[in-house]
Amino acid sequence: MSGASSYNLNCQKCQVQYTLDDVAFDKSCQNKHTFLFVCPECGDYKATAMANIPQEKWSEFVPADQLDDLLQKHAEAMKSH
Ligand SMILES: [Zn+2]
Repeated sequence: MSGASSYNLNCQKCQVQYTLDDVAFDKSCQNKHTFLFVCPECGDYKATAMANIPQEKWSEFVPADQLDDLLQKHAEAMKSH
């Protein structure tokens, strides 16, 4: 077991990578923050818990100019419960 969490950001239909559409921060105490992805080809939506994707991978789909802001909001969201 490598311990690496498996996640797949490719649309099975189109074989292209989903792009980040939105980020939803859970205001409850469960910290179920979610990435919302959309397929640029077919428009299919996919939601993945932020905890399922290692933070060092976020730069692969979060635009560089939004990454710092996202990390900050995520850190704040994790604190506020
Ligand atoms: Zn697709």
